[in-house]
Amino acid sequence: MRPLDLEFSQSATDHRTLPELVSEVAFVGRSNVGKSTLINLVANRKRLAHTSKTPGRTQLLNLFVLNEDPVTRGLMDLPGYGYAAGASKKAQASWQVMIEDYLLDRESLEMVFLLIDGLVGPTALDKTMLAWLRSHEIPNIIVATKHDKVKSSQRPRRKKELAEGCDLEAGDVIWVSSAKGLNVDKLRGAVMDWLSPSK
Ligand code: GDP
Repeated sequence: MRPLDLEFSQSATDHRTLPELVSEVAFVGRSNVGKSTLINLVANRKRLAHTSKTPGRTQLLNLFVLNEDPVTRGLMDLPGYGYAAGASKKAQASWQVMIEDYLLDRESLEMVFLLIDGLVGPTALDKTMLAWLRSHEIPNIIVATKHDKVKSSQRPRRKKELAEGCDLEAGDVIWVSSAKGLNVDKLRGAVMDWLSPSK
């Protein structure tokens, strides 16, 4: 499958100030989970999600759109959670409101891809996020990252553990490795399925 022709659109604290799209998927996960690397690979552009990491943008909603005319489909790069541990209570609260507001109210949102570190996840924060999504009936798919970092002898057990930690079957989780390119195509396919007009 061809890489997705994504381009950076806009950053915002309030999704209502972003372009209205017909369909959108969101990528979320704790910081350092490998989200930027994966988005770059999905688009096959080395520095695409770099935009989301520039000073001032790391804690914003960063919208990427499919380059087509008219622009109707997008991918939302949500700020990574976890790093906020050192932030003030006030900063954490406003971050949470921004993300929750987006996830609850964004009309075009079709699917949330929750990225979990394949080596160590799900962490307590991952579980909290997943429980929150489920409690609000927000559709989600678990993507386990950094498959290459798990020793091959450990993989069957790790896959089982990670899935069980999410109350899922092993087959429900998409395992990827940006380093090895594992299942990146599968992920592109899943993203495009959710962005396709027939949904
Ligand atoms: P983000 O904070 O979620 O956007 O994470 P990044 O994409 O910046 O990745 C965090 C770190 O994990 C970087 O050092 C990446 O090189 C590394 N990383 C990302 N994906 C993979 C992967 O598939 N395999 C390995 N071994 N490292 C990865």
